Amino acid sequence: MTATQSTVLQSRRVERLVQGIPTSDGAGVRLTRVLTQNLQRRLDPFLMLDAFRNENPEDYIAGFPDHPHRGFETVTYMLAGRMRHHDSAGNAGLLGPGGAQWMTAGSGLIHSELPEQEEGLMEGFQLWLNLPARDKMIAPRYRDIPSAAIPEFDTAEGVHVRVIAGSSQGVAGAVQREVTQPLYLDVHLSACGHFAQAIPVGHNAFVYVYRGSVDVAGTTVDDRHMAILANDGGDGVALSAAEDARALIIAGQPLREPIAQYGPFVMNTGAELEQALRDYSEGKFEANAVQSL
Ligand code: MN
Repeated sequence: MTATQSTVLQSRRVERLVQGIPTSDGAGVRLTRVLTQNLQRRLDPFLMLDAFRNENPEDYIAGFPDHPHRGFETVTYMLAGRMRHHDSAGNAGLLGPGGAQWMTAGSGLIHSELPEQEEGLMEGFQLWLNLPARDKMIAPRYRDIPSAAIPEFDTAEGVHVRVIAGSSQGVAGAVQREVTQPLYLDVHLSACGHFAQAIPVGHNAFVYVYRGSVDVAGTTVDDRHMAILANDGGDGVALSAAEDARALIIAGQPLREPIAQYGPFVMNTGAELEQALRDYSEGKFEANAVQSL
């Protein structure tokens, strides 16, 4: 499918460049935490973005054994490698290259995310998208989106765009969310390529470059850097690249609700976090699963 460039009259400017923090999570998976807790308010409704790109199996092989979540959604997008998912609601899936997994933790589930490979590159991203207060206790849901099910298009200029969520130039993505209206694009620019994406005024937005370097409204954004886009003007974002480059464009409508996080639980108040801990320790997350079957 080909599509014409959408009209963006003025690109938002880059407000701030962020280099992620190297850390490890799960049972010792090395990753870069790009969107950290101190940016949750600024990038509302997004709570976290982790990027992982590991060649050495020791850096990923232990994966993420059983752990709980409540109150938000996890969106995993794989570029290379395979990850096996199991959860207490009885869902299982194998996430492969180019595929995505959209998991709504809602009232709570326990899941594992384990590599299904013993060697070679494992690369991808996990984004956490908040749920509005009214939806935090909905039944857990899980959706596998294989690579072939992610809508894609090429612009006349040879830019390749994968639309994971939201829509771009009339192409609807694999996932839509009414309240937060998330946009999640994977944009592949070839040499001298440029691409413009409309972003509604008031939505929080950022670009994460994961290959090469990309010019974002006059600011160079290097590999493995996030550019937070300013909210003080502009009807979209303009990207260009001198050489082959790839970047994620992520945007969404802020919830403007209180954010209370304790590890894998994200609620609105401390009391709700205490309730989450109690429910988890009393085994109610497994009970949730039974109710949702
Ligand atoms: Mn998880």
